[in-house]
Amino acid sequence: MVNFEKENTMIYFDKVSKKYNDHTIALDQVSFSVAPGEFVSIVGHSGAGKTTLVKMLLVEERPTEGAVFFESVDIHGLNKRSVTDLRRRIGIVFQDFRLLPNKTAYENIAFAMEAAGRTDAEIASDVPQVLELVDLGEKVWNFPHQLSGGERQRVAIARAIINQPDLLIADEPTGNLDPINTFEIIQILQKINDMGTTVVLTTHNKGVIDTLEKRVITMEGGKIIRDDEKGRYVL
Ligand code: ADP
Repeated sequence: MVNFEKENTMIYFDKVSKKYNDHTIALDQVSFSVAPGEFVSIVGHSGAGKTTLVKMLLVEERPTEGAVFFESVDIHGLNKRSVTDLRRRIGIVFQDFRLLPNKTAYENIAFAMEAAGRTDAEIASDVPQVLELVDLGEKVWNFPHQLSGGERQRVAIARAIINQPDLLIADEPTGNLDPINTFEIIQILQKINDMGTTVVLTTHNKGVIDTLEKRVITMEGGKIIRDDEKGRYVL
């Protein structure tokens, strides 16, 4: 039986270790839980294990030891179809945006809805709403190369949330952005969290962490070295 730290847990890492090539220890006995509706930032220097942790949640990497639970289900024991279902419940945003270059902002978002089997009527009603949430204005008919970095990231966020995921993972979403765009992207993430979506953010950005005043998990050498409510960046 799993001994959950908290009732009402969305994510639970139970002593998760990950070794690559038998010698690189990317995660070392990592345990933490995230409640539904939380906003958690994961910080740490390059190589600390943040990306590996995100990959564990997406079932892109398997733990060498330990287990990862999503709503009390061991996600590395799921069959392929259930992994697909799990991934549909998770929206993800990357540092490099990963938009389809030959589709407009509108089409990038609509495409994610089509892929999830949503109807044309749903697409016509939901896409304008989400674009309003990310405040993209008249740029919706632009292709990615006609958008600034901040605008591209807004489209990527809109695409990540269009199918109403329970969890949004933002993996260094502001890594390519200037301070003003960074601030605006963080405000959008906060808005999404306020609307009820759980957010896991990885970042190097001290300013982001210090203004958020939300929970901060600090990693070093594959270990969690701090876990602070309303934390600050102390590395
Ligand atoms: P972070 O995202 O915090 O920069 P990572 O999770 O990418 O950290 O990496 C943690 C450690 O695992 C680093 O030492 C890195 O070199 C190593 N690592 C990551 N991915 C692989 C891989 N596919 N094969 C071998 N080593 C890896």
